Amino acid sequence: MKKLGLTLLAFILLFVGFLLVKTFTFTSRQLQVDLVEKVIIPDSAIERLQKALRIKTISFETEEDFDSTQFEVFNQFLKNQYPSIDSLLDHKVFSKYSHLYKWQGSNSQLKPIVLMGHIDVVPIASPDKWSVDPFSGEIKDGKIWGRGTIDDKFSVIGILEAVEMLLKYNFQPERTIYLSFGHDEEVGGERGAVLIADYLKNQGVEAEFVLDEGYAITQKLIPGMEPDVAMIGIAEKGSATIEFTVDMEGGHSSQPAKETAIDVLANAISKLKANPLEATLSAPMQGFMDQLGPEMGFVNKMAFANRNIFKGMIISTYENASGAGNALVRTTTSPTIFEGGIKENVIPTYARAVVNFRIIPGQTADDVMVHAKTVINDERVKHKFYGFNTNPSAVSPMDSDGYNVINRTIKEVFENTLTAPNLVIAATDSRHFDEVSSNIYRFVPYHINEDNITTFHGIDEHILVDDYKDAIRFYRQLILNSNQ
Ligand SMILES: [Zn+2]
Repeated sequence: MKKLGLTLLAFILLFVGFLLVKTFTFTSRQLQVDLVEKVIIPDSAIERLQKALRIKTISFETEEDFDSTQFEVFNQFLKNQYPSIDSLLDHKVFSKYSHLYKWQGSNSQLKPIVLMGHIDVVPIASPDKWSVDPFSGEIKDGKIWGRGTIDDKFSVIGILEAVEMLLKYNFQPERTIYLSFGHDEEVGGERGAVLIADYLKNQGVEAEFVLDEGYAITQKLIPGMEPDVAMIGIAEKGSATIEFTVDMEGGHSSQPAKETAIDVLANAISKLKANPLEATLSAPMQGFMDQLGPEMGFVNKMAFANRNIFKGMIISTYENASGAGNALVRTTTSPTIFEGGIKENVIPTYARAVVNFRIIPGQTADDVMVHAKTVINDERVKHKFYGFNTNPSAVSPMDSDGYNVINRTIKEVFENTLTAPNLVIAATDSRHFDEVSSNIYRFVPYHINEDNITTFHGIDEHILVDDYKDAIRFYRQLILNSNQ
């Protein structure tokens, strides 16, 4: 008995020792570089962003609402406000309002880069709830206000400002630079990014890297992390939508059958919600833990250093943290439409539900369909794909030149900022570029925090004037850093 006790004790000590060794050898992987000097950003650059915000380039859900005159005004804005870009860069227009500029590099041996953004914005749902006119581009409290400030006009205008500034100084890149600005990102990108990506592919362009929106610099949004963390999206989730319908006998509500169409469908959807697809730590999450784990407090550091042992605990922490946390570790299940019935005393013969799934890398839309059928396991429920469906993007590497250049540029422009890859849980235009480059990164340079996270597609969207200035500095530095 005593011998068994000692063996057990030795085993426990060995195990604890193993955990501690793994924890203490899990050391920082953050790049150490010096900050670059801040270039002066003229006030006129701020005025140009304000002007861009005043143009109502709204993507509406219904095509009839599309206001082409606003997009024409934006075309004119580009031409008039960025004269060097307009006269010196090759310019192609797609579907009248999406733009691709090509800044020819002097060294054709170097692969080009693609800097992306979108010029459309989402509509204003509750204008009366805004504290400013959403299309005034007003400056108040050191912030620029309006729809599109953080999604995504500051980025488009930031890229244009950086390029115009470099052109004025007669900077000649060695590497060709493409600027790709779609006008319909918020409604799928079919007329903008899809056509631009097709064109580049047909031209035989293979980009060193593509940079689009996705993540930003988070401030105190990651539990346990004091410093700012710039997250670089190295993959984005897919999306599949399935329509479920049930056709059954109806009748009078005074004598209902044991099960009606509504009962069967309600049961099916609750089964789906109760049995989600299996949670997993995808490659982007692994990268996130590799880069940030060593910067965290002891408990998190130990868990991330020994993630094979603590996998269940890590996943359940994410699952229970928030909707966004749960979305990082699994394919999510969201019923979005549920309908049936027309009158209070008539049992309907038909009920319909639509469920949107956001798919994690490693799973596919077909996996989701098979899963749904298996879980529901009821022949009375018919399933079919509905609307727009796409598999998750490929996972871009973290050891590419593109990642390194973006990483370095963040560190050079933003003081005391950690960086880490992660999975983007929403969709971006860059998903259409997978045949143009295998190095697609999703990051825009501004600080996202409690103050502005809900304003994204919401009320009182704004950006700090200083953040916008740093965005221009970021894109300028990125172009300089990529130029080798
Ligand atoms: Zn966007």
